[in-house]
Amino acid sequence: MFSLKDTYHAIFGVANQDSICWSIAECIRAAGGEVVLISHPAIVRKGRLQKIASSIGIHDIFPCDVSDAESMEECFKKLAGYAPFDGVVHGIAFSNKDELRGRFVDTTADNFKETLEISAHSLTAIAHRMERMMPNGGSILTLTFDAWEGTYPNYNVMAQAKAALRTGMLYLAADFGEGNIRVNAVSASPEDTPSARGIGNFRLIGKFAEAMSPMRRRATKDEIAKTAVFLLGPGSTGITGQTIYVDCGASSSTMPPARNADLMAEAMASIAETYQKELPDDEKTD
Ligand code: NAD
Repeated sequence: MFSLKDTYHAIFGVANQDSICWSIAECIRAAGGEVVLISHPAIVRKGRLQKIASSIGIHDIFPCDVSDAESMEECFKKLAGYAPFDGVVHGIAFSNKDELRGRFVDTTADNFKETLEISAHSLTAIAHRMERMMPNGGSILTLTFDAWEGTYPNYNVMAQAKAALRTGMLYLAADFGEGNIRVNAVSASPEDTPSARGIGNFRLIGKFAEAMSPMRRRATKDEIAKTAVFLLGPGSTGITGQTIYVDCGASSSTMPPARNADLMAEAMASIAETYQKELPDDEKTD
């Protein structure tokens, strides 16, 4: 792994040890980098994150609700005291759980606005404020899921947010290139995290991803984190405006590899069983 010694990184989006950003924090620390965490105020208030963070040498955790202008203001005032930064990780997403199931067409305007603001515009809002704290250049990284390229059941409005996030990443890369700040995205496998648990039948997307993978599995959070360290560090100084897929190749398959017939059969059986249970009684088949 590349060394991140003498570098400073701000990570937005750790809820707990199951978060992808937690694995990234661990990996940055293992590579010798310093980390400050920024988390939702409700998480910081609970106090559990402080304990686990200090176990890996992270002592600075600031609250920030990206949908609240005052909270943003306060947070970035504090962060300014830690500048210059070399890296920023954005792993923030939110949508009303009730709309992460059922039909996409039922998305409400209010939830569309909230989802897009928190899950997509927050990257731009954070990048805008971090730019002046990265006078020596650096790397900004966001986390995405390839749901903007085709549909997944229940992912719904979050897929629109990921489409907007991707466009934001591209345009930020264009704006920031001159200042030698690179902006990239990692498109990860479906992972068991607090957010993912809010998406209807997300485990089925996980099973399907394994069946589509030439490697017959999903990437681990540690593998995602190692790629994040690569994109934050000296090994990737020529890369910007890119989405790197860390999904064991699932997104590269249009049909599952022939030798994954067993995995696809299992995934399809789980999908059929789950959907059958969800059908109204008069539409169930034997
Ligand atoms: P997570 O729940 O651990 O992380 C989401 C974070 O967003 C949480 O820390 C939460 O507190 C934060 N957040 C939500 N609303 C906020 C607000 N208003 N202000 C500040 N923070 C707010 O889940 P995760 O799956 O690790 O998600 C991290 C990123 O990775 C997300 O963008 C997610 O879409 C993406 N991703 C996840 C998967 C997966 O399968 N879990 C796959 C690919 C990409």
